[in-house]
Amino acid sequence: MDKIIDGKAFAEKLRGEVARKVAAIKASDNIVPGLAVVLVGEDPASQVYVRNKGKQTVEVGMQSFEHKLPDTTSQDDLMALIDQLNGDDKVHGILVQLPLPAQIDEKAVINRINPQKDVDGFHLDNVGRLAIGDPGIVPCTPLGCLMMVKDQLGDLSGLHAVVVGRSNIVGKPVASLLLAENCTVEITHSRTRNLQEECKRADILVAAVGRPEMIKGDWIKPGATVIDVGINRIEAEGGKTRLVGDVEFSSAEAVAGKITPVPGGVGPMTIACLLHNTLQQACTINGIAVPG
Ligand code: NDP
Repeated sequence: MDKIIDGKAFAEKLRGEVARKVAAIKASDNIVPGLAVVLVGEDPASQVYVRNKGKQTVEVGMQSFEHKLPDTTSQDDLMALIDQLNGDDKVHGILVQLPLPAQIDEKAVINRINPQKDVDGFHLDNVGRLAIGDPGIVPCTPLGCLMMVKDQLGDLSGLHAVVVGRSNIVGKPVASLLLAENCTVEITHSRTRNLQEECKRADILVAAVGRPEMIKGDWIKPGATVIDVGINRIEAEGGKTRLVGDVEFSSAEAVAGKITPVPGGVGPMTIACLLHNTLQQACTINGIAVPG
């Protein structure tokens, strides 16, 4: 098998599976999953994400609802929209694109979403479920990481996993997922001592730091599986920019057993997992099992 984990191909396969299952529940129960994406403000990167999400939602046979609000939107107005979407039977998933403008309390908005329509897995109810190992919705990027690792390694039981980064959206949920797979999990962060030595113990190394190419080849145990979540834009030749991960790919590739590239690794999996989560919520809300 190839050393480089092709996230683009994996995401395409996952979207194909979601599309097949969407067609199945439409045929059996006349259910068409609907995903509502809420964008507040004009952030160009967020606009691109929202456009891509809408396009891929429609491609798998779901309904896409986009709500674009000005960056002057008040907390009350945004809460009222969330309430409206919570009560809309056509909407099975609600995603509020982050970050939100400063006048808005992000946590309050996320926790206003009906947990059964929370497709990001950021609602406290779903965060708690993941923490105690109850079924629920898992954040998209961590879910994509886990799917790729399991696809490569199969049974993860007993493997030593090191997660670099402890954010609520990536590091902590990735660690919870790996723990649930019976890995021995180590979470590291900016105060960790001897980070290089900790990384070198990893059979599975997940980098979610946001520091371009911080992790070098000599931080990696030979044969380890390396999942690079980082997306960093750096200066390139000719005044251009290019995307790199948190791992220095050239040196890491020589040592790792398996490695995700940036771009084309974890990134494409995130939207595919969002669609997977929307399908799951549509089935949960309607009291049916997700088709096999
Ligand atoms: P955050 O900034 O929220 O968290 C970064 C984490 O890295 C923190 O826990 C921080 O530690 C730790 N950290 C920072 N510097 C160091 C250091 N020198 N040594 C060790 N640990 C360090 O970032 P996110 O988790 O939101 O994102 C991480 C990366 O993943 C970013 O590049 C982001 O763009 C990318 N990303 C990619 C996604 C995708 O779809 N592929 C989705 C989400 C994020 P401390 O807690 O101590 O401050």
